[in-house]
Amino acid sequence: MDRRTAASLDAQDPLGHLRGRFALPDDVLYLDGNSLGALQPRVAERLRGVVEAEWGRGLIRSWNDAGWVEMPRRVAERLAPLLGAVPEEIAVTDSTSANLFKALAAAHRLRPDRRVILTDDANFPTDVYVAHGLAELTGNLEVRVVPTAEVERHLDQDVAVLLLTHVDYRSGRRHDAAAQTAAAHAVGALAVWDLSHSVGALHVALDEWQADLAVGCTYKYCNGGPGSPGFLYIATRWHEEAATPVRGWFGHARPFAFDLGYQPAPGAERFLDGSPPVLSMAALETALEVFEGVDITALDARAGELTGLFIDLVDEHLGTEVEVVTPRDAAERGAQVSLRHDAAGPLSRALVTRGVIGDHRPPDLVRFGFAPLYVTRVEVVEAVEHLADLFHSGDWDRPEFHREAVVP
Ligand SMILES: *Cc1c(COP(=O)(O)O)cnc(C)c1O
Repeated sequence: MDRRTAASLDAQDPLGHLRGRFALPDDVLYLDGNSLGALQPRVAERLRGVVEAEWGRGLIRSWNDAGWVEMPRRVAERLAPLLGAVPEEIAVTDSTSANLFKALAAAHRLRPDRRVILTDDANFPTDVYVAHGLAELTGNLEVRVVPTAEVERHLDQDVAVLLLTHVDYRSGRRHDAAAQTAAAHAVGALAVWDLSHSVGALHVALDEWQADLAVGCTYKYCNGGPGSPGFLYIATRWHEEAATPVRGWFGHARPFAFDLGYQPAPGAERFLDGSPPVLSMAALETALEVFEGVDITALDARAGELTGLFIDLVDEHLGTEVEVVTPRDAAERGAQVSLRHDAAGPLSRALVTRGVIGDHRPPDLVRFGFAPLYVTRVEVVEAVEHLADLFHSGDWDRPEFHREAVVP
């Protein structure tokens, strides 16, 4: 595909107009929305308003007058359609790591006689650290980390929780969440999903999958801004029984009664704990407006097209010089493509100096994210042109590109 064909396909795309909602620098091809989503100018405006008018002039009154208290609930309403859930099942709060701790603790309480948290060795490190931390604290849990292909074989009557990340941050491989959840349930275990690399880009259907709990972050494909709050999902069927180990006043049924007796708020809201981070909640709330009226199945299909186009062009222009490690079946991958090469670090850093922003995952992967709300086919074509040019010119093989950069 050439630029002209790509441009005409972009022009016909029913989701194509959404790119106009984002502010991206002209000299950048941004393929890292899977790590930090792009800014929308209206988010900047909202933040200015919250800071100057609500905080500056409204002061403490804004907790009520500007609706700060209800923010977690309002954002949950906006996230629910992206998760295939109802708002009462979602708490918007904390980091993904902290939410995962609460989710695993709650799941453990629902399966008190079982002693294993099962996960795979492709999982994101924070998930594994958090699981170990909980195991150490409880003293009666073991974290079993097995190769992805062996997860089902390790599902047995000891397993309390199957913990998986829907899309592997390195390879981009996507789990069949409905099937894996059913496999966990078949042995009486609960399924806890990390949706950090899915929400806002892919079709997620937590209720339909029969998932038990889930967590995820909102600064990747949801564009909430650096460090924006994460979310915790808990299925309605567990609401009566579920308990959180972090019992804060914002998760109380009546926080402003200042009662010393703890009474959990109904539904997922009991997983809120302290005061909401109003500034980043406001940014997230406004950032999510772009999803209004967007069908997540269409978004998922667009992610599949962009990643598919990138893979085809890499095959065409780089042939066997790099290995595409991401699955070639769109249903089996997320909105990212990872390429394997021994010089992945230098290649990635050289690309960044040309304005092609992807990232490097050690030791040997270059990773490109295709946020389906704003990445265009023309950008995919241009990115592969840069990649092929860089590769064939050997221009990446300079001392400055061999030095490690400190980036998240
Ligand atoms: C990005 C990401 C996180 C981030 O966790 P934080 O606590 O929000 O920093 C967690 N899990 C996965 C799978 C991720 O990709």
